[in-house]
Amino acid sequence: MPSLHLNGIAKRFTGHTALHDLSLTVRDGEIFTLLGPSGCGKSTTLWSIAGLHRPDSGSIAFGDRVVYDHGRVNTPPEHRNCGVVFQSYAIWPHMSVYDNVGYPLKLRRADKAQRDRRIREVLELVELGRHAKRYPHELSGGQQQRVALARALAHPPDMLLLDEPFSNLDAKLRDRSRQWLKTLQEQVGVTTVFVTHDQDEALSVSDRIAVMDQGRIRQIGTPAEVYDHPSDLFVADFVGTVNILPATVVEADGTHALIRLDGIGAPLRVPHTDKRIGPVHIAIRPENIDVIRHTAGDEPEGTLVARIESQAYLGDHYRYGIRIGATPVTVTTTRRIDADSLTFSLPAHDVRVFHEEPSTNEENRHAPVH
Ligand code: ATP
Repeated sequence: MPSLHLNGIAKRFTGHTALHDLSLTVRDGEIFTLLGPSGCGKSTTLWSIAGLHRPDSGSIAFGDRVVYDHGRVNTPPEHRNCGVVFQSYAIWPHMSVYDNVGYPLKLRRADKAQRDRRIREVLELVELGRHAKRYPHELSGGQQQRVALARALAHPPDMLLLDEPFSNLDAKLRDRSRQWLKTLQEQVGVTTVFVTHDQDEALSVSDRIAVMDQGRIRQIGTPAEVYDHPSDLFVADFVGTVNILPATVVEADGTHALIRLDGIGAPLRVPHTDKRIGPVHIAIRPENIDVIRHTAGDEPEGTLVARIESQAYLGDHYRYGIRIGATPVTVTTTRRIDADSLTFSLPAHDVRVFHEEPSTNEENRHAPVH
């Protein structure tokens, strides 16, 4: 399967730039996710790849086949050989499952026997072999979505492009569909671009993720890289839940920094490669705050105590709301705390330091629920 190369893609709509000079490479056979808040340009990117939007600059290549080069090449969508699945499924209600899946093959004038073989093959692949004769209204939402996928795969595509394919499904089915898609994609090995605004979905299905914001890419990395080593506060905040606290770097030698935090007496020494001194923000995930078990009044050295202001039981873990200085902080732990205060420490290797202000756009924030 070919790799995918976007180079310097810009797209302007009247009075609005949806994509700014976007470049990325999707490796042969990987699931690459475009993740970001509503309006950040995910669908515009996907549609440009499919040939449904014409970018204002840049080029797009499938392997060494250039399908778009501004002002020179613009391969029409039907010749790009992309399998596309949208949120709305877009399967034909008046056609059976068999005919829906066979339609792209009919368009390409595949002969009947060949068509029949391929339809049965992809229906087996999406585990709908038994439902070939049914009509869409006789299927569940998840099954309809699989028909759409089978149709996208019927004529083996060079690229599989999925635009929020699971967003109409309920939480359980979504989760199953993600696992199922990952297995299917590994079997088929098709280079896949997946669009979602759902961070859990992105983390669970992707080989790599591009986090987008306002028509630009903030970071590209594996799910673990993006989650554990976000490149900036926007990524830290958008992917997962994070506590963000104002702090001051008082010493820095290029490998570590000494950080003073309001409400914490002794400075923290954390790994940090920047030598700048002065105000910063630190980010720490709720599950990385170390909840310490101890006997009352005998807190181990280096630990802190905070009053528990709120708590919730969430089945497999507990969530506690505390404060560090004046900042509300969320802590999650599997440990139940039968006290009105919590003893904790901030593990140095889980503290990230950013020399920037947090996003003020509330829509983009997944700030902790306190
Ligand atoms: P969502 O998750 O809500 O689908 P998205 O990240 O996919 O969002 P896009 O649909 O790519 O975002 O839109 C990017 C920006 O371009 C948005 O501000 C949107 O309003 C604008 N836009 C998209 N299509 C058009 C269009 N046909 N005409 C004008 N503006 C458009």
